[in-house]
Amino acid sequence: MDIYKAYKIPFIGLKVGQHEFEFELGDKFFESFEHSEISGSEINVDVVMDKQSTMMVLDFEVYGSVETICDRCGTPMRVDIDHEDRLIIKYGDQTGSSDDEILVFGPSEHMIELQQFLYEYTHLGLPSRRVHETEEECDQDAMNLLNKLREEKDEDEDIDPRWEGLKGLK
Ligand SMILES: [Zn+2]
Repeated sequence: MDIYKAYKIPFIGLKVGQHEFEFELGDKFFESFEHSEISGSEINVDVVMDKQSTMMVLDFEVYGSVETICDRCGTPMRVDIDHEDRLIIKYGDQTGSSDDEILVFGPSEHMIELQQFLYEYTHLGLPSRRVHETEEECDQDAMNLLNKLREEKDEDEDIDPRWEGLKGLK
Protein backbone atom coordinates (compact mmCIF):
# COMPACT_ATOMS: atom_id res chain seq x y z
CA MET A 1 0.00 0.00 0.00
CA ASP A 2 1.26 3.43 -0.87
CA ILE A 3 0.97 5.38 2.38
CA TYR A 4 1.74 8.61 0.54
CA LYS A 5 -1.12 8.21 -1.91
CA ALA A 6 -3.11 10.93 -0.14
CA TYR A 7 -0.26 13.41 -0.55
CA LYS A 8 0.02 13.30 -4.31
CA ILE A 9 -1.59 15.75 -6.68
CA PRO A 10 -2.20 14.57 -10.24
CA PHE A 11 -1.83 18.00 -11.80
CA ILE A 12 -2.09 17.21 -15.51
CA GLY A 13 -5.87 17.16 -15.53
CA LEU A 14 -6.23 20.39 -13.55
CA LYS A 15 -7.36 23.56 -15.27
CA VAL A 16 -5.25 26.70 -15.25
CA GLY A 17 -6.24 28.69 -12.18
CA GLN A 18 -6.49 28.22 -8.44
CA HIS A 19 -7.01 24.89 -6.73
CA GLU A 20 -7.23 24.19 -3.04
CA PHE A 21 -6.14 21.08 -1.18
CA GLU A 22 -6.24 20.02 2.45
CA PHE A 23 -4.07 17.46 4.16
CA GLU A 24 -3.96 15.96 7.62
CA LEU A 25 -0.67 14.73 9.01
CA GLY A 26 -0.90 12.25 11.85
CA ASP A 27 1.61 10.03 13.60
CA LYS A 28 1.59 7.41 10.85
CA PHE A 29 2.79 10.00 8.40
CA PHE A 30 5.74 11.14 10.52
CA GLU A 31 6.65 7.63 11.67
CA SER A 32 7.26 6.74 8.03
CA PHE A 33 10.26 9.09 7.97
CA GLU A 34 13.43 7.85 9.59
CA HIS A 35 14.61 11.03 11.31
CA SER A 36 11.33 12.58 12.34
CA GLU A 37 11.42 14.51 15.62
CA ILE A 38 7.64 14.60 15.72
CA SER A 39 5.04 12.51 17.52
CA GLY A 40 1.53 13.18 18.77
CA SER A 41 0.90 15.08 15.59
CA GLU A 42 -2.29 16.97 14.91
CA ILE A 43 -1.28 18.90 11.85
CA ASN A 44 -3.42 20.35 9.09
CA VAL A 45 -2.07 21.72 5.87
CA ASP A 46 -3.96 24.04 3.54
CA VAL A 47 -2.50 24.34 0.08
CA VAL A 48 -3.48 26.88 -2.52
CA MET A 49 -2.12 25.96 -5.90
CA ASP A 50 -1.99 28.48 -8.69
CA LYS A 51 -1.63 26.57 -11.93
CA GLN A 52 -0.27 28.71 -14.75
CA SER A 53 0.73 27.87 -18.31
CA THR A 54 4.47 27.77 -17.55
CA MET A 55 4.57 26.96 -13.86
CA MET A 56 2.72 26.08 -10.67
CA VAL A 57 2.92 28.04 -7.43
CA LEU A 58 1.88 26.24 -4.26
CA ASP A 59 1.35 28.14 -1.03
CA PHE A 60 1.30 26.05 2.13
CA GLU A 61 -0.06 26.84 5.54
CA VAL A 62 0.96 24.25 8.10
CA TYR A 63 -0.80 24.55 11.45
CA GLY A 64 -1.72 22.56 14.51
CA SER A 65 0.34 21.06 17.29
CA VAL A 66 2.77 18.24 17.89
CA GLU A 67 4.33 16.58 20.88
CA THR A 68 8.00 17.10 21.49
CA ILE A 69 10.45 16.90 24.38
CA CYS A 70 11.10 19.93 26.57
CA ASP A 71 14.78 20.96 26.39
CA ARG A 72 14.75 21.95 30.07
CA CYS A 73 13.00 19.12 31.92
CA GLY A 74 13.11 16.35 29.31
CA THR A 75 9.41 15.48 29.51
CA PRO A 76 6.85 15.58 26.69
CA MET A 77 5.16 18.86 25.86
CA ARG A 78 2.95 20.17 23.07
CA VAL A 79 4.09 22.93 20.77
CA ASP A 80 1.95 24.89 18.36
CA ILE A 81 2.98 25.06 14.77
CA ASP A 82 2.04 27.75 12.31
CA HIS A 83 4.29 27.81 9.29
CA GLU A 84 3.91 29.16 5.78
CA ASP A 85 5.94 28.11 2.81
CA ARG A 86 5.92 28.28 -0.96
CA LEU A 87 6.87 25.77 -3.60
CA ILE A 88 7.38 26.79 -7.21
CA ILE A 89 7.45 24.22 -9.99
CA LYS A 90 8.38 25.26 -13.51
CA TYR A 91 7.81 23.20 -16.62
CA GLY A 92 11.06 22.42 -18.40
CA ASP A 93 12.83 19.98 -20.70
CA GLN A 94 14.12 17.83 -17.87
CA THR A 95 13.15 17.13 -14.28
CA GLY A 96 15.49 18.65 -11.71
CA SER A 97 15.89 21.82 -9.75
CA SER A 98 17.23 25.14 -10.97
CA ASP A 99 18.07 26.16 -7.42
CA ASP A 100 16.87 25.36 -3.91
CA GLU A 101 13.57 27.10 -4.29
CA ILE A 102 12.45 26.12 -7.75
CA LEU A 103 11.70 22.66 -8.97
CA VAL A 104 11.65 21.84 -12.65
CA PHE A 105 9.31 19.24 -14.08
CA GLY A 106 10.09 17.54 -17.38
CA PRO A 107 7.32 16.61 -19.85
CA SER A 108 6.91 13.10 -18.40
CA GLU A 109 5.88 14.32 -14.94
CA HIS A 110 2.20 14.13 -14.12
CA MET A 111 2.11 14.03 -10.32
CA ILE A 112 3.32 16.32 -7.55
CA GLU A 113 4.47 14.23 -4.61
CA LEU A 114 4.14 16.41 -1.56
CA GLN A 115 5.13 14.08 1.28
CA GLN A 116 8.75 15.24 1.55
CA PHE A 117 7.72 18.91 1.46
CA LEU A 118 4.97 18.42 4.04
CA TYR A 119 7.46 16.67 6.29
CA GLU A 120 10.09 19.38 5.93
CA TYR A 121 7.70 22.30 6.31
CA THR A 122 6.33 20.86 9.55
CA HIS A 123 9.84 20.52 10.97
CA LEU A 124 10.63 24.07 9.86
CA GLY A 125 7.64 25.15 11.92
CA LEU A 126 9.09 23.71 15.11
CA PRO A 127 10.55 26.37 17.39
CA SER A 128 14.35 26.09 17.66
CA ARG A 129 14.16 26.21 21.46
CA ARG A 130 11.49 23.88 22.78
CA VAL A 131 10.79 24.49 26.45
CA HIS A 132 7.74 24.87 28.64
CA GLU A 133 6.83 28.54 28.79
CA THR A 134 7.95 28.97 32.41
CA GLU A 135 10.03 26.80 34.72
CA GLU A 136 6.93 26.30 36.88
CA GLU A 137 5.26 24.50 33.97
CA CYS A 138 8.12 22.06 33.73
CA ASP A 139 7.80 18.65 35.33
CA GLN A 140 9.06 19.36 38.86
CA ASP A 141 10.00 15.75 39.64
CA ALA A 142 12.05 15.57 36.47
CA MET A 143 13.67 18.94 37.29
CA ASN A 144 14.59 17.80 40.80
CA LEU A 145 16.10 14.62 39.45
CA LEU A 146 18.08 16.53 36.81
CA ASN A 147 19.36 18.98 39.44
CA LYS A 148 20.39 16.11 41.69
CA LEU A 149 22.25 14.40 38.86
CA ARG A 150 23.96 17.67 38.01
CA GLU A 151 25.07 18.19 41.62
CA GLU A 152 26.39 14.66 41.85
CA LYS A 153 28.32 15.21 38.64
CA ASP A 154 29.84 18.40 40.05
CA GLU A 155 30.88 16.58 43.21
CA ASP A 156 32.45 13.81 41.17
CA GLU A 157 34.45 16.37 39.27
CA ASP A 158 35.69 17.99 42.48
CA ILE A 159 37.33 14.81 43.67
CA ASP A 160 38.46 13.51 40.29
CA PRO A 161 42.18 12.83 40.86
CA ARG A 162 43.02 13.79 37.29
CA TRP A 163 41.80 17.31 37.95
CA GLU A 164 43.66 17.40 41.26
CA GLY A 165 46.80 16.50 39.38
CA LEU A 166 46.26 19.28 36.85
CA LYS A 167 45.69 21.81 39.61
CA GLY A 168 49.10 20.96 41.02
CA LEU A 169 50.71 21.93 37.72
CA LYS A 170 49.61 25.54 37.93
ZN1 LIG B 1 9.82 21.51 30.72
